[in-house]
Amino acid sequence: MNTVAQDRFGRVINYLRISLTDKCNLRCVYCMPEDMVFRPKQELMQDDELLTLVRVFASLGFGKYRLTGGEPTVRQNVVEIVRGIAETPGVANLSMTTNGILLGELAQPLADAGLQRVNVSIDTLDPARFKRITRWGSLDKVWAGVEAAENAGLKPIKLNVVVVRGFNDGDVTELAKLSLDHDWQVRFIEMMPFGDVATFAKEQIITDAQIRARIADDFEPLELLDDGRLDGEARIYQFPGAKGTVGFISTVSAPFCASCNRARLTADGLLRLCLLRDKEVDLLTPLRQGAAEDDLRQIILDGIWWKPWGHGLEEDVIPLTRVMSQIGG
Ligand code: SAM
Ligand code: SF4
Repeated sequence: MNTVAQDRFGRVINYLRISLTDKCNLRCVYCMPEDMVFRPKQELMQDDELLTLVRVFASLGFGKYRLTGGEPTVRQNVVEIVRGIAETPGVANLSMTTNGILLGELAQPLADAGLQRVNVSIDTLDPARFKRITRWGSLDKVWAGVEAAENAGLKPIKLNVVVVRGFNDGDVTELAKLSLDHDWQVRFIEMMPFGDVATFAKEQIITDAQIRARIADDFEPLELLDDGRLDGEARIYQFPGAKGTVGFISTVSAPFCASCNRARLTADGLLRLCLLRDKEVDLLTPLRQGAAEDDLRQIILDGIWWKPWGHGLEEDVIPLTRVMSQIGG
């Protein structure tokens, strides 16, 4: 059997983002409605099912893994799951995207279990605006989480910022300036339209060019690094003399499909081939029906072959079946 997952455009897919749960302890305005209804637990991958699928993906050359959600830290047994994934042969790189609320307690146990890095989402430095964006969040807890992550060695830390017109567009310069004195990467992510929150996202989006113009007006221009070559999905900039960097992820205005090497595993065990396209392949049902690992490998290889190219946002084709918290970002 071919043991490398490759699509029909020749892209080798070796990076898996796993949503550990669709649940979250926050309700960010661009991500989910306040009265979000979550999936019953039995519909989600159980710990042993998740680890079986990771073993299968690793055997197909997937070496890089990111745990996300919903909020990955609210998943029961998250530390043991991290340990199980980290110990799987072939897993070389293991990181997590989190809202940071529970990192104060969990950063050290997660690092001890084999987690290597974290990205922490933080959209503003103002406590009142933070509450308005996340609906339920406390900025103090997130900062305690970032500090705990640094102390636990979960570095280099990246801070994810989604910019929403009328909510935090006035905060971009202060956020970018965090990179002056810290060796962090502050990353601005363009808001993407999904399901129920699509209209909101389309109306309130701010593009990367607008963010950079605002930073230049308020403070000083950012300098482009590496001739604009992508670092993962981000284009990297820096203030002259800064310790850290500023990244821009322009999924909507400048998609990075040519270099895309990723697939996603949703919390209910579906292989999602593109963040912004609804095409998915069910892995959990065959697993529960007793499929052998070889059969699962073939299902994954066949699915990856049909990985789509390019989002359809300009033609108004938006992902409808799931919101971001169910896919994992
Ligand atoms: N709960 C974790 C967190 O917030 O970091 C992990 C899951 S969250 C879905 C992953 C990332 O997606 C976060 O950085 C979040 O800000 C971002 N995100 C959520 N909804 C988005 C949207 N509509 N457009 C762009 N990014 C979004
Ligand atoms: Fe939760 Fe993350 Fe979505 Fe915010 S962005 S509601 S923290 S899953």
